[in-house]
Amino acid sequence: MRGKARNDSPPPGRSGARVRTSLRNRLQSEQKAFKMRQLKEMPLAVSNSRESPPAQTQAVPRLRVGKLCVAVQGASPAELFSRAESAINDSIFIEFRLDFLAKPAAALSELKAFLNRHREVTAIATCRRKAFGGHFAGSLNAEWELLLKAAEAGCHIVDLEVESAEQLTRPQLARFRAALRAAGAALLVSSHDFSRTRRPDGLIQTARRIAAFEPEFVKVVSTARSLADNLSVLRMVEDQSLNAHVVGIAMGEEGLISRILSPRAGAAFTFASAAEGAETAPGQVSARALLDLYRLEQLDHATRIYGVAGNPIAHSLSPLMHVTAFRRENVNAVMLPLKVRTLDDLLTVIRDLPLDGVAVTMPLKQEVLPHLANMDPLTAKIGACNTLRTGADGKLYGFNTDVAGVVRPLERRMRLKGARILVLGAGGAARAAVFGLVEQGAEVYIVNRTHEKAVALARKAKAHVLKQNALAKNRFDAIVNTTPCGMTGIKQQLPIEEDELNASLVFDLVYTPIETPLLKLAKARGLAVVSGLEMFVQQGARQFEIWTGKPAPESEMLRVVELELRRRAQ
Ligand code: NAP
Repeated sequence: MRGKARNDSPPPGRSGARVRTSLRNRLQSEQKAFKMRQLKEMPLAVSNSRESPPAQTQAVPRLRVGKLCVAVQGASPAELFSRAESAINDSIFIEFRLDFLAKPAAALSELKAFLNRHREVTAIATCRRKAFGGHFAGSLNAEWELLLKAAEAGCHIVDLEVESAEQLTRPQLARFRAALRAAGAALLVSSHDFSRTRRPDGLIQTARRIAAFEPEFVKVVSTARSLADNLSVLRMVEDQSLNAHVVGIAMGEEGLISRILSPRAGAAFTFASAAEGAETAPGQVSARALLDLYRLEQLDHATRIYGVAGNPIAHSLSPLMHVTAFRRENVNAVMLPLKVRTLDDLLTVIRDLPLDGVAVTMPLKQEVLPHLANMDPLTAKIGACNTLRTGADGKLYGFNTDVAGVVRPLERRMRLKGARILVLGAGGAARAAVFGLVEQGAEVYIVNRTHEKAVALARKAKAHVLKQNALAKNRFDAIVNTTPCGMTGIKQQLPIEEDELNASLVFDLVYTPIETPLLKLAKARGLAVVSGLEMFVQQGARQFEIWTGKPAPESEMLRVVELELRRRAQ
């Protein structure tokens, strides 16, 4: 997507001429189709003039639109305008979703007052009808009337669905445009597909269907069902932005890539919500997140794109931790959460976006192995890879930084060679811990709820196995909990009994909450404790080093992750 699709597009001149001709044809056929359907003429409420000049002869208003438009909705005018007041802190480009109000017309005088008070704001008025995914229960006529009144109230752009535009006769459309221009407003024509994202050609067809109305802005919105759907949207944006001010977004969690990267692909702007919980469309992220976490204003074609892949993934702390490190070390890069349903989907996006590297979570850590061109010896031995780097040759290289995540916090506190370490659990995290600690010369013992799994892991990693009832009689230098016991939402609070806590140090890989019941108990007993937060930051710091070749700003990474975890716990 870095210029690749652009090369496939015809040069702007030719393409523009072709699109204009096809627009004319399209417009004529739309009018014919309209007449054939014998729809009732709907007079525009704002202008009775039969002599309105053709839209093209009036100047298109000059607009200040940034990359980010904050979509604001409210159940009442008070809520709508209070959110708009706060949204100004993030962007002076605001979309007013009037259709979320029970009586949108009643908010117009307040809208005018708001825009008079905030002359710096560029405003879009939208009053989407229910038939097209909005909340407005009124007729098409009522929608137009409202949009025109919003323009007269000072809105700079009005959004009309393509389906509504298609119901206008040519003279109606001309009068509508003339009335908008008399009010100093531009037209955005939009299409929303709430079920799917078509292939690039299909999206381009939709963009052309919209462009037939010669709006100032063409907006094509679809719904992502896979990560690869983002590629279709970005290709459409790259292609169409040569001819028009285009906005292209795929809704839904899988569509996040398009929300963040479409301006880089040439989109006029993208949309964000005013705040978490105040979204106007599925998958919308807050303006703060787009600006701070996903660096919308800094993204350019040199920006390296990394991802953290999994399902669920929305609440991953990796993007925050890595963007903090990127910013601190002046690395032009960003990390996006990627909701992955299939490995194939992830591999397509890695190859075609392309992605520079990915942090992978279970079960992808094992599934990805056959697709690696090479991997570090520990990854091969453990059979799990949590870090992918795309080489200059486009091939994928695999690393395991989970091991460092367990080993480093411990080796900072004790000599690992010869140390007796008990690992609780025999799952994915335990594999990294056991292989890593054995490699450092520790004598590792495994206890697991399902004993056979402990036996199998011990055999592979050259560790020892213990049964739970032998714990009270044994003493260790450290205990490492790799079970989810004690994690928020998990019923079982402690992985072992209090009298089995026979060690000088306890390391709990769980980090939600930061102070787990096991760590609290260990602390109360005067033992040294290590939080899973340290593992999370250490494995992330090694990923940063693999991706950037720079030393990771570990303390800064730790600080932001801890702060965010404490904020979430409130
Ligand atoms: P996993 O592969 O599902 O393994 C979980 C292990 O815990 C299995 O051995 C399982 O035993 C055992 N277990 C599960 N519930 C238990 C219970 N109620 N009582 C006793 N044992 C139980 O999971 P994982 O990927 O290894 O992750 C395990 C934990 O490590 C998670 O809570 C995660 O938060 C934490 N972790 C932290 C980091 C970090 O960066 N700090 C990184 C990775 C993982 P059975 O074999 O009997 O099912």
